[in-house]
Amino acid sequence: MIKVAQCWDDGVLNDVKIAELCRKYNAKATFNLNPARHKAKERITDQWNFKGYITGRLAWNEIKTVFDGFEVASHTMDHCNAGEVDDKVFLTQAVGAKNILEDLFQKPCCGFAWPCGKYTPETMKLLREAGFLYGRTCENVENVLDCDDFMALPSNCHVLNENFWDIFEKAKKSGVFYFWGHSYELMEDEKMWREYEDKLKRLNEDPEVEWINVVDIVKLKK
Ligand SMILES: [Zn+2]
Repeated sequence: MIKVAQCWDDGVLNDVKIAELCRKYNAKATFNLNPARHKAKERITDQWNFKGYITGRLAWNEIKTVFDGFEVASHTMDHCNAGEVDDKVFLTQAVGAKNILEDLFQKPCCGFAWPCGKYTPETMKLLREAGFLYGRTCENVENVLDCDDFMALPSNCHVLNENFWDIFEKAKKSGVFYFWGHSYELMEDEKMWREYEDKLKRLNEDPEVEWINVVDIVKLKK
């Protein structure tokens, strides 16, 4: 058996497609959100672009519907970076998003993803004390359970890693495979979306695969 987890950052417009595909293939997913980066009633469609593709942000009032049934996690209120703002401000940012998401989804939200993958020993400690169970970094390892401290939780690979399936095979030894990405990286590229759908399909058809949420990874460490 291999347990598989995935997460997606920033609450951008393409997350709608990710969520739809995950529902279609019975896949779990965690979405890392910045509550202060959304307008209440309208989508943001003029923000920064990725390789010419406008990433956009969902309207806050559609967040609950889009991510219904999935896990959500704090990615700070407005995507500030650890070590670049005062530690107390960073803590308020991280916990502020946690509280808003818990109120909205009416369930505990103990996951965290470090904006831009930046973290410091001090902010790791503060977030742990605030009740977060993990903080996802942008580092990749062969065995995610090898990490000493889940407040610096690596993944196995990015979703677009060209060695995705080799990494998946190698991860079988540890019993967990965890990948992540930004849905805007798939842009409107039909080939990339087809490849992502193929991944979900193949994982769904694999009798050895059991989907878990990212927060479940921390429970697997012996
Ligand atoms: Zn981000």
